[in-house]
Amino acid sequence: MYGKGILKGLSVTFKRFWNTYWDDIVWLASGKKRYRSAEGIAHRSSKKARGIFTIQYPEEKLPTPEEFRYVPFLVYDEGENGEKVVRCTSCGICAKVCPPQCIWIVRTNDPATGRPVPVPAEFYIDTDVCMNCGLCAEYCPFDAIKMDHDYEISSYRRNVLNKEALLKSAAYYASIRPLNYAREEEARKAKEAAKAAKVEAA
Ligand code: SF4
Ligand code: SF4
Repeated sequence: MYGKGILKGLSVTFKRFWNTYWDDIVWLASGKKRYRSAEGIAHRSSKKARGIFTIQYPEEKLPTPEEFRYVPFLVYDEGENGEKVVRCTSCGICAKVCPPQCIWIVRTNDPATGRPVPVPAEFYIDTDVCMNCGLCAEYCPFDAIKMDHDYEISSYRRNVLNKEALLKSAAYYASIRPLNYAREEEARKAKEAAKAAKVEAA
């Protein structure tokens, strides 16, 4: 029959429209907040959600999954006196594998001998060019560069970040990627134990 499909479509639209408000009323009646609360976001992201809704950004933000990646940052460990021990050895692998070539590194040389020192004198990433592929973090042999979760870095100027701006602590890395961090620490400890056992056996 002509028009049956249209009526069916309209009823679906109306049902979604009605459910949008009805869900709000049910949440309000139960004394909970459907918007601007972690519980509300979890509900609206679940299969139980009814109606039409959106995330009220910037007041609300979706929880970031561990593997989410935005621009890279450099990891440093805390030294015994609280100093920043940069993990990067300026090997240059990340700069080589970066598809848009937006990483550039200035190596440190010993002023007396002229020999290279495994610490970057400068480290730049043009985050406006970075395509967030994560290859730099994948290829780094020292777990020195990782992908950040912080996506709120827009500005009116060119975003070329230098070493100071790129440095973030290992504790921060552990807080945004706990599973990755734990796996890497375990591997590191196993490697150190194997090395120590080899030295002892020699
Ligand atoms: S971040 Fe990693 S891959 Fe890049 S230069 Fe430093 S140590 Fe090498
Ligand atoms: S995420 Fe990809 S594009 Fe961005 S700096 Fe790393 S390798 Fe280059």
